[in-house]
Amino acid sequence: MFARTSIRLGRMATTFAQRQAMSTLNQQAKPRTSRLRQIKRAVYAVGLGAASYIGWSMYQTRNPGEQEPFDPSKKTLVLLGTGWGSTTMLKNLDTTNFNVVVVSPRNYFLFTPLLPSCTVGTLENRSIMEPVRLLMRHKKREVKFLEASCIDIDVDSKQLLLERRSSSDAKLTGKGGADEEPLKLNYDYLVVGVGGTVNTFGTPGVEEHACFLKEMDDARQIRRRLMDSVEKASFDDITEAERDRLLHMVVVGGGPTGIEYAGELHDFLEDDLSKWYPELVDRVRITLVEALPNVLPAFDKKLISFTQDTFKENNISILTRTMVKEVKDKTFIVQNPDGSRSEIPYGLLVWATGIKAQPITNKIRQKFPEIQTNGRGLLVDEYLRVKGAKDIWAIGDCALSSYAPLAQVASQQGKWLARKFNHLSNDDLITDLFLQMNAKTRPFKYSSQGSLAYIGSEKAIADLPFFNRNITAGGVATFWFWKSAYLSELLSLRNRTRVAIDWANRWLYGRDLSRE
Ligand SMILES: Cc1cc2nc3c(=O)[nH]c(=O)nc-3n(C[C@H](O)[C@H](O)[C@H](O)COP(=O)(O)OP(=O)(O)OC[C@H]3O[C@@H](n4cnc5c(N)ncnc54)[C@H](O)[C@@H]3O)c2cc1C
Repeated sequence: MFARTSIRLGRMATTFAQRQAMSTLNQQAKPRTSRLRQIKRAVYAVGLGAASYIGWSMYQTRNPGEQEPFDPSKKTLVLLGTGWGSTTMLKNLDTTNFNVVVVSPRNYFLFTPLLPSCTVGTLENRSIMEPVRLLMRHKKREVKFLEASCIDIDVDSKQLLLERRSSSDAKLTGKGGADEEPLKLNYDYLVVGVGGTVNTFGTPGVEEHACFLKEMDDARQIRRRLMDSVEKASFDDITEAERDRLLHMVVVGGGPTGIEYAGELHDFLEDDLSKWYPELVDRVRITLVEALPNVLPAFDKKLISFTQDTFKENNISILTRTMVKEVKDKTFIVQNPDGSRSEIPYGLLVWATGIKAQPITNKIRQKFPEIQTNGRGLLVDEYLRVKGAKDIWAIGDCALSSYAPLAQVASQQGKWLARKFNHLSNDDLITDLFLQMNAKTRPFKYSSQGSLAYIGSEKAIADLPFFNRNITAGGVATFWFWKSAYLSELLSLRNRTRVAIDWANRWLYGRDLSRE
């Protein structure tokens, strides 16, 4: 009995001691547990907030609200183009103050910095295209869109002549809807944002045989030609010389576009062709031809040599001080640094050497022959007004100012001009917008956000302004910065999601090898 009681007492004591120990432990663990709980709650809250925001954005994109109709008492503002300049302007414009009409042969905005990625299937084409109607339907007042090219202007009667055609029509048939009666469109204010067109410098054969890299149709054509060359090279019954010709990929132009394309092409060979065409991959050659002494002239010297070293590692040949003199069907002729000429066989030749003025830009220039004397574009003053003209502004690549033809410049100009129009468009001010500009506003000033370029092998280079200095960086970390910068710059959440999914798809399944 005594023994049993003492055992029970002993057990009770042990249980009491254990409980005491547990409660001490619990007391110590409590703050940690509650901190963990707080973190979890914060994570849930952020997740819920992000999901709600994404859901709301998706709903809004798909369900635009009612719009005010055109108001005959308001002035008509015509925007030419759906590129960086005009689209950014439209995005920032308060359309309740005007009747806005957008005219462009392209019914979408194209995010050009990621265009080289579409040529090899890193990204799908639609991921970097934004239908302009999505943007228009979300404006307060109705915006009219005309899929047409402006072909002439009467500055005295303020009338535009439009040809009903899309950019693809023009490519496929060479004339688009030119058979139809041209359309007349009156404007009170005109903003010209028609960009530029590819400059071949009059080199014979370029138009006929080279691929360009300016529009989405160009990227499609490059992809077709690339895959055609590779497929043709895999036939057994062709000569070895013909196989080598087909597998020689040439890029003309050592600016950011040419460099990025060469980098993307290298990745395609390295990551995908090596697996699906192992017998061909070692015979593929990439050559970049540049007339100047080095590539990427606008970048810091350190970044130029970093790019050249990376290209060397990736077996991309760079021919500097070499000028393309003629492009034939299967060969092209270059003038070498010593003045001699060589004829080089190629399978695909991509021409990425810069831009010149669009035909409509020249037409507008010709209306003011004494003032508009520069054939590269429309001379504008510091308020982006076309010199010599009344109520006409020019933004982006077609406007000649002291800035380079860059997306950043075009979009900053579009935003600046939209704000000025928003600010000046009260009825009492609108009587002479042209004069009001000077009195009310500070001139446009470009603020550079720096330069970025992808150079292949998951490496990028960056030349970024930092206070009064420039920071330069190159490598894999810069590539991640490049990715996040472009992802955030895309126009909509819809495009961001698509691009992110494409990147993930490429990583999971590799690039698509189909010809289209
Ligand atoms: C492959 C590539 C990569 C690039 N990468 C970069 C980069 O990384 N960073 C950067 O800052 N810049 C980059 N650029 C340059 C940048 O794209 C241009 O500076 C920018 O597009 C200029 O904008 P824009 O509005 O003047 O013209 P665009 O964007 O070219 O748009 C012109 C618009 O006008 C329309 N149009 C043409 N003719 C007519 C007409 N007759 N009537 C009506 N509409 C017309 C066109 O269809 C188009 O919608 C790149 C360019 C390319 C091609």
